[in-house]
Amino acid sequence: MTCRTIVITSGKGGVGKTTTTANLGMSIARLGYQVVLIDADIGLRNLDLLLGLENRILYTAMEVFEGECRLDQALIRDKRWTNLSILSISKNRQRYNISRKNIKMLISSLKKRNYDYIFIDCPAGIDIGFLNAITAAEEAILVTTPEITSIRDADRVAGLLEANGLLNVKLLVNRVRADMVQKNDMMSVKDVQEMLGVPLLGAIPEDNQVIISTNRGEPLVLKKKLSLSGIAFENASRRLVGQKDYLLDLETPSNEFFYKMQKFLTGS
Ligand code: ADP
Ligand code: MG
Repeated sequence: MTCRTIVITSGKGGVGKTTTTANLGMSIARLGYQVVLIDADIGLRNLDLLLGLENRILYTAMEVFEGECRLDQALIRDKRWTNLSILSISKNRQRYNISRKNIKMLISSLKKRNYDYIFIDCPAGIDIGFLNAITAAEEAILVTTPEITSIRDADRVAGLLEANGLLNVKLLVNRVRADMVQKNDMMSVKDVQEMLGVPLLGAIPEDNQVIISTNRGEPLVLKKKLSLSGIAFENASRRLVGQKDYLLDLETPSNEFFYKMQKFLTGS
């Protein structure tokens, strides 16, 4: 297959880009694809923490650009799923930025290495860091929560993606609370999708397991007994790779359905 380069972006910070990158990446690796995750959040990287790989990073892309190491040395393989690798653009607290030319070179060398998926975890905002992160991507996943502030920023980003020639965009609505949607205290996934006019890839519920998994450095999708958010990420991954039309209905949760889904996915 040809390699797909997908940037995970949002505009607003803290809405779940890194969580999405780690979980989609791990889940797609578990489906058997070769995956590399790029942490393009210069100076505030945390993808390594979510994957529990923080102690293994000795080199970053910055050292590769400066000729201090080979690309192989900056690519860290996950020991749990060795077809998943992570590459950080820079060391933490580094202030200076990479050039667009460098990021394009980096992506084209990765493409020569038989990866099926390259995910780029974008920094917050719409300035140079964002523009660098989207420059070499062919597709984007736009992450938003069902809150108006996040949606407005996502809308702005959707416009910028289009202006930069990135037309293949899919939406992921994160932190959905069925109880609040039912009481009309939160916008539904459908409302969010219609406001943004971007096709839906998936919807992820608000779930304390996300925080627990972040703190443990163990992506949700690795859990033997998947949480609801883990199932939702797995479904989004399957949709992304084009395997059937999985979409969790978060607004009318039926325990029986989730139980069956869990049984199906975990085989337990
Ligand atoms: P971003 O990369 O967009 O800044 P993160 O993925 O780092 O966002 O998530 C920001 C915070 O929100 C983290 O503390 C994370 O654990 C929490 N979070 C993200 N998604 C969920 C969710 N579905 N349920 C609960 N907490 C979440
Ligand atoms: Mg992040």
